[in-house]
Parts: sequence; C-alpha cells; structure tokens
Amino acid sequence: MNTETPKTERPLDFIRQIIVEDIATKKHKEITTRFPPEPNGFLHIGHAKSICLNFGAAAENKGTCHLRFDDTNPGKESNEYVEAIKKDLHWLGYDWGEHLYYASDYFDQLYSFAVKLIEMGKAYVCHLNGEEMRTYRGTLTEPGKESPYRGRSKEENLELFEQMRNGEFEEGVCVLRAKIDMASPNFLMRDPVLYRVMKTSHHRTGDKWCIYPMYDFTHCLSDMIENVTHSLCTLEFANNRPLYDWVLDTLQTPCHPQQIEFARLNINYTVTSKRKLLELVKESLVSGWDDPRMLTLSGLRRRGYTPASIRTFCDGIGVGKKESWIDMGILENAIRDDLNPNAPRVLGVLDPLKVVITNYPEDSTETLEALNHPQNPDMGKRTIPFSRELFIERSDFMENAPKKFFRLSEGREVRLRYAYFVTCTQVIKDKNGEVVELHCTYDPATRGGNAPDGRKVKGTIHWVSAAHALQAEVRLYDRLFTEEFPDADKEVSFKDFLNPDSLQVLTNCRLEPSLVDASVSDRFQFERQGYFCIDSEDSLPQHPVFNRIVTLRDSWAKLAGKNKK
Ligand code: ATP
Ligand code: MG
Repeated sequence: MNTETPKTERPLDFIRQIIVEDIATKKHKEITTRFPPEPNGFLHIGHAKSICLNFGAAAENKGTCHLRFDDTNPGKESNEYVEAIKKDLHWLGYDWGEHLYYASDYFDQLYSFAVKLIEMGKAYVCHLNGEEMRTYRGTLTEPGKESPYRGRSKEENLELFEQMRNGEFEEGVCVLRAKIDMASPNFLMRDPVLYRVMKTSHHRTGDKWCIYPMYDFTHCLSDMIENVTHSLCTLEFANNRPLYDWVLDTLQTPCHPQQIEFARLNINYTVTSKRKLLELVKESLVSGWDDPRMLTLSGLRRRGYTPASIRTFCDGIGVGKKESWIDMGILENAIRDDLNPNAPRVLGVLDPLKVVITNYPEDSTETLEALNHPQNPDMGKRTIPFSRELFIERSDFMENAPKKFFRLSEGREVRLRYAYFVTCTQVIKDKNGEVVELHCTYDPATRGGNAPDGRKVKGTIHWVSAAHALQAEVRLYDRLFTEEFPDADKEVSFKDFLNPDSLQVLTNCRLEPSLVDASVSDRFQFERQGYFCIDSEDSLPQHPVFNRIVTLRDSWAKLAGKNKK
C-alpha cells in the first residue's frame, strides 16, 4: 500500500490538461513543445512565462522542449541577441539539450514548400504595391478585392518566384501570396503574403537569400518539421490559427501540431514589449538591456532576482485564456519570499550620521556577536566590531522628536543592535544648522542588548563602527514608470511616464566589514532596509556597489491603501 500522503496540488491549467489528455488517449506518444524567440532583443519577464510553460509542461510529461530562433527578419536580428537569449534561458534553469534550432535552417525546405503551393495553384506572385495591397484587402465590413495578378499561371508564378529568389526584383516590387479567400471575415486569410524580397544579409545565412518567409508561413512549417505536438503562443495569435492550419492542411504535411493560445503576461508599472524596451535602450533612457530597473531577465538577474523566484512567480500566476494584469507587487513578493528564509542579515547604514560614544575608551575596539538570521540559528553567528565612533542612519535621529518617535533624540535612550544601550547627550551642528554629529554615552552593563536592571528601550537601530566600516555605493531602485499602464494611451508615449526617481544613487554608505567578502552571487538583508546584492557590472573591490533588490515590505501597497482612506 502506498502510505505517502497525496499531494494537494492545484488543478492543471487548461494547456496541461490538453497535454495530459492527449497522452492518455494516445493521440501522442511523446509530447514536444518549443520556445520560439525572435533574436531581435533580450528576453523579458513575459517570455519567462512562456518559457516556464513550454519547458515546464514538456518536462512534467517526459517530453521535449526545443529552443528555436524565429529568425526570418534579418534587419532586426543579430547573433548578440541569440547568445543573450541562450544565457538567460540557462540562467532561468532550462536546457534544450541537443534541440537547438533556427527557422533559418529551414529556408531551403520552406522555399520548396512555397514552390509546392504554387504548383498546387495555391500561391501566386503579386505585383501590387503596398498601398494597392491595402486598398484591395477590404475592411472589416467589406470583403477584399482579388488582385489582378491572382490568375497568373503556375508556370508564370514559378518563373517569377525564381526571379524573386535570384534578386531580379527590388524590395517592395512583388511578393508571394497564398491564394485563399479575399472575402474571408478573417483578414489574415485574405491572400496573406508568404514571402517578401529583402536585400539584407542574414546573421546566419549571409547573402544566400534575398527573399525571406513571413512568420505565418514559417512558424507552422518549422513546428511541423520538428514534430512539435503542442505549439503554444499568446492570444494575439488566435486569428493566425486558421492560417497556421491552412498551410499545413493544404500541404498535407505528415504532422500537424496543434496551436493553443494563452493569455500573455502583463505587469503594471512596466512595459513588456521588446520593441519598447529596445527604444529605452537605444535612447539611453536606461543603462542597457540589463538595467536593474528593466523587467528583462538580464535586468532582473543584475538586480538580484533569483531564477527560482521568477519560476515561482510564473507558476503562481497560472496560465489562462483571458487577458489580465498582474500587480508588480506579486513579482516583488516572490523574491522576498525566496530571500527571507535564506538571506543572511547584515548591518548597513545608507545615509550615515556620525555618533561619538564619549564614555567609551579611545583606541579601543571590541567584537560583538551577531546572528546571521534571527529566525534560523543554523545560519550561525558572526562578529562585528564596536568602537568609540560609529555611524547610524540619519533618519534614526530626530530633533524635538514627538513622543512616539522611538529612535534617537537628545536625552533619549535606544538599543544599538547586538551592542549597547546608548543615550544621546549632545547634538553637534555645522554653521548652517545641520546636524553633523551626535554625542552619546553608552551603558557598559547592557552589552549584547539587555539591561540587567530590566529597564526597557523601545527602539533598536542599526549602526556600524566608523573605523571598520566598508564604504560603498548603494543603488536604490523604484518602478521605472509612474503610471500603472504606461502604454495604455495611444496618444501619449509610454516614455512620458518614466519615473524620474526610479534610480537613487547613494555614494557614501557604510556597511559592516564582513561585506568585504561578498561575491556577486550573494544576497543579503540589510536589516531594516531591504535585500541587497553586489552589482555585477559596476562593483569593484576598491569601489563596491550594491543594488537594492527589493524593499522589506511593499511600500506601494501601503501608499495605495493610504490613498483609499
Ligand atoms: P514582444 O511583444 O515583446 O516583442 P514577441 O512575442 O514578439 O514579444 P518573441 O520573441 O516572438 O517575442 O516571443 C517568443 C515567445 O514568447 C512567443 O511564443 C511569445 O508568444 C511569447 N511571449 C512574448 N511575450 C509574452 C508575454 N508577455 N507573455 C507570455 N508569453 C510571451
Ligand atoms: Mg513575436
């Protein structure tokens, strides 16, 4: 008997249900999916959803997932993007093994299929120019008009198509079109273009081709050639499905993958469109594709997100058939949940204010014990140096503080985390009246943070020893856009909604000395401040740079709550 408690799992999403059924009914012995990025930009969080679905569903069913570059548009594509996409996929935790393909590998086969359609009387070379094509296409309420070139003989079409291939026509002069139905209620079925002339070198095929196949012709045939069983794509391709099926049906291909559409991932306060992300990069509105404010996988990686947090996020949002928006807070919670149990705690002062402990001996240093994770003793302890001069957070001091301010103020006592109780005795100001230093006394009996006489203090603040602290730059990030739906308004550019305060650079932070040994893969909680990691691009041993991955709490939710009141 199986004594294991059954897992209470979520019901399968509709795509996984279809896959499981197809295996149960023996429609397929083995399933094959594919992730088909166009190498014209870096992957973003939306792609992660598609990756987790395609690789995930295949793995769960002992199937295979291919990585196929959909590289049919040489003007915009490059090998740099191919390499970046592979790197991001591996980082996210997925591997395509030997199943790496390029649509461009199929150019010869695709050409033969096009010739076959011509021979079947199902495709023709059309010499209407772009403007004429648009007029002939008709409208939503009116059927299109047949092209005057639609009746060309097979022989003529074959010859013209060959001339297209041989570079005898300039771009835009003619195209190859499928002969379907100019009266179809579906625009895409009104004799869609299959091939266009494009005199551009391809990053893989060089100058071999000067005609390139269109997405709708390439995608279904590439899926078919690779024996894909389930071709998963986003909802906007629902209208392309009849064409996907038409090409395969007409060519009577031996295998006919099933296209299934699911809702794309949209997240508020950001844009998930490669075209728009590219604009931000090209116009230097961000520092690059891997700017830590961008929801590209490279940006998230540099920001400090873990692959596991992104996979958990994608898993949590599910796969459905209805367009929806996911709150940015959900993504942020995914990384918090991942880091909270594991990230060692450290002390770091972002905006330092000097404190002199006047009754502490000069030239003396002691080491105090601190827990690496107060909730998890297994993570051990470390020591932190304490001395006469310290730094505390400027915001932890207030002049004329109200009663409820439990941190430092003249005459008040607080606990320095893992150290002593201190009382502020004097506030030193510069000639402009700005507080530049505090004088405090400490109570030697409170070492470790408790008073033997049982006296209580309400506030505990973090600190670092001035002489021992590591000076560092810290970058705080906020959402890149101020509008919840930055690309919703067609009249206004999404770039008008860039958040001017999305990056705050603090150059004079003081961190506990243990952080000297931090490496790029480490992530820490700076107590009371958030989660941080070393910036993989700009940090240097002589000039450490830390990124704030995420705050401790969702400050936006708090704000939204306040506004509602
Ligand atoms: P973009 O709109 O950002 O340019 P794309 O769809 O043109 O994206 P592709 O490289 O063609 O980019 O996408 C590869 C795969 O990722 C496709 O199957 C596509 O449907 C899927 N995909 C792209 N964006 C999203 C998203 N936001 N949510 C889910 N899947 C997505
Ligand atoms: Mg696309």
